[in-house]
Amino acid sequence: MLRPENNTSQGTMRIIRPRGTAELNKLATIEINPRINIKHYFRSADILIKQARVYYNEGDYENAYILFLKYTNLGITELSRHPSYKAPEHKRQNKAIKLNCLEALNALETLKPKLDKLFEDHLEDINKNNNSNHNNLSRKQSTSVVDRKTRVSSESLKIQVEANVPEEEKIQVEEDTREKKKRSDNEQWSVQNALRGVSGIGGTTGSEKEQNKQRDLSNAQANYPKTNFYNQSDSFNYIKSPTPSAPSYAPPLPPKPIVEESDPIIKPVSVPPLPPKIRNEQQFESKGPVTSDQFVPKLPPKIKLDQQDEIHSSPASTTEGGLPLRYLYLPDSLQKDFLRIAQTNTSKNIETCGILCGTLKNNVLTVTTMVIPRQSGTPDSCTTENEEELFDYQDSHELLTFGWIHTHPSQSCFLSSLDLHTHCSYQIMLPEAVAIVCAPKHNPSYGIFRLTDPPGLPLITNCKAEGAFHPHPDEPIYTDTHNDTGHVRIKSYSYDIVDLRG
Ligand SMILES: [Zn+2]
Ligand SMILES: [Zn+2]
Repeated sequence: MLRPENNTSQGTMRIIRPRGTAELNKLATIEINPRINIKHYFRSADILIKQARVYYNEGDYENAYILFLKYTNLGITELSRHPSYKAPEHKRQNKAIKLNCLEALNALETLKPKLDKLFEDHLEDINKNNNSNHNNLSRKQSTSVVDRKTRVSSESLKIQVEANVPEEEKIQVEEDTREKKKRSDNEQWSVQNALRGVSGIGGTTGSEKEQNKQRDLSNAQANYPKTNFYNQSDSFNYIKSPTPSAPSYAPPLPPKPIVEESDPIIKPVSVPPLPPKIRNEQQFESKGPVTSDQFVPKLPPKIKLDQQDEIHSSPASTTEGGLPLRYLYLPDSLQKDFLRIAQTNTSKNIETCGILCGTLKNNVLTVTTMVIPRQSGTPDSCTTENEEELFDYQDSHELLTFGWIHTHPSQSCFLSSLDLHTHCSYQIMLPEAVAIVCAPKHNPSYGIFRLTDPPGLPLITNCKAEGAFHPHPDEPIYTDTHNDTGHVRIKSYSYDIVDLRG
């Protein structure tokens, strides 16, 4: 059930307060933990840039800017601090990330003046309204100081990347860019292109009033009822965390966006058709094959919102630390379907797991596919096998990872200590990621969880305990997500189930 939102409505645009790049820069910080396997950061990087491209193509330039900048911060500065960064087996991923960084930096160069212009215009409007020439002058001065600082840092990042990319690759990227630009000029903007990709965002657009609302909500969440928290350890084994696949080939640079500079409204685009799925009980949305491998098409001119579309510019919820969480939609038949698939294992007291995949559109994450990977289960463990096959499937179907689901054939509904560590790797990739537990023999029999942040996420990220199962401090490490204060919404729609077990 959707909560009413007084600032969004179907088919109407919401005027939002533009934010300057100085403000957006603060939302793009990212810090790696050397204790976390670098493969999770490779996967995170992939999810970051795919989301950035979606936002870019939807005309949501603020979120695109944040994610492209976050990507460059990860790819240029943070990753190199990881102890495994220089391992020879990561050469391919590192090369792909460097090329993607060039794409991201070019996008940032395009976006920055647009965003700053919107912000300056906004300040001028305020000053005009206040009828204060003095304030006008001082604010303009401070903005230009910020401008210079940001430009310097963006340029130095680019020099750093370019220095690390062999000359022939740079030439290739530039040629590809020119070629793709030429092609995109002749192509209609397509939604399939816009859907190439989906992960976590450091902030979201909203008015000052909304930000106050966020703070209020955050305070409210600090008072979650005790019963929403689970902090148990047990003697279970569980699935090993996913291995990220290599970030894909660096896509072409985006064309210059078409923006009406005097218009401070960032407009989402109309509903695109989703790519066809392997198995389709009933199309979730309109049909349409993916016809182009080009991810950045010509930016759409102003397109009217589809009346059926739901726009969520404001966050669904926030973390305990006040960071925004976007809506995550789950199909209402997920639990029933998964239990049916797992039934054979469950009857033998063997665990089953599945991966929740989906798409980002109009700032909403929607689970569109449940993938059952090859796996081996025991009464108290489940281990995914051949993860490359899983990631290949996701990549070829433009699917992002939104979490995982598993059964407790005989145990109650909670996250074991190993579950917490497994889920940690999902949540560092995407703050909205969820862990769903199905415990058919117990009540409650179904739980949708995320780590609290703080204290859960940093606590598990930094946990140095040895062994698969170990006790954790008695703190609220994780919480339900599908109540009225969470970011998960159960919706009635069809989705795909892909069983890779053969
Ligand atoms: Zn479990
Ligand atoms: Zn631990």
